[in-house]
Amino acid sequence: MPPTTVGYKAAAMHRILAAALVTTVTPLLTAQNPGYTDTPALPGLGWRVHDAARPRPPVVDPGPAPAQPMPAPADARKLFDGRDLSQWGGKDDRAQWVVRDGYMEVNGTGDIWTRAKFGDCQLHVEWATPAEVKGDSQGRGNSGVFFFGRYEVQVLDSYENASYADGQAAALYGQMPPLVNACRKPGEWQTYDIVFIAPRFTSDGALQSPARVTVIHNGILVHHDQTLLGQTNHRSLPSYAPHEPTGRIELQDHGNPVRYRNIWVRELQLDRQTGPASSTAPATGGK
Ligand code: MG
Repeated sequence: MPPTTVGYKAAAMHRILAAALVTTVTPLLTAQNPGYTDTPALPGLGWRVHDAARPRPPVVDPGPAPAQPMPAPADARKLFDGRDLSQWGGKDDRAQWVVRDGYMEVNGTGDIWTRAKFGDCQLHVEWATPAEVKGDSQGRGNSGVFFFGRYEVQVLDSYENASYADGQAAALYGQMPPLVNACRKPGEWQTYDIVFIAPRFTSDGALQSPARVTVIHNGILVHHDQTLLGQTNHRSLPSYAPHEPTGRIELQDHGNPVRYRNIWVRELQLDRQTGPASSTAPATGGK
């Protein structure tokens, strides 16, 4: 067989194998319909993790961004007031994100986390994705707010940027899309007000009650008392592993220069509203 024919056939085979590899490893990741078709199905939901076919939420214009940071209530603990990162740890035990002009900015030095730990809480976060749009889908303005370092409320530039529904801005990552897409334009300040109810575990490590999350994005309710199925994961099913009743709040460095400002938290004492007979029971939301 002439060498040229061998070379042609080898090249053709290589193309076929390469196409097969792309088909099996990256089943469906297109600009029009990003997502996956080979991930496991989320229990009870009927959708796969990052399901390409899961409908993306309708877009709702939340109105103009606030001119100033939202004032913190008197009993809030300020985690970042625009001046320094003294309340945050990070790589080499020191948060190293850029701080300037009243905000902090992701700069590739890794995730940062609160030095203090929190359980049930109300968290206010203001964030802005880069005004200069780069990348698409999960590569555009990606960051995230993690409770206990493991339960992510996604931060993403979801303004005219298609991505899989359970990975867009305000999604409980890999589990639940927001009710609506309330994103502002890139570069504009946005707000999250999140009520996070921590999961409870028995003394032998079994799950007693799952975490629950309420999220208001730019003043619009996008999750109401939503149950988390476990730790938020990429391309795999969520699951719970026992942990302490309090944990750190983390902000994700996903390689995009997302900005944050005006972060405060209120620790919630939910048993104030329960009687003595129920004071040892986990908070379940009442009747
Ligand atoms: Mg993220």
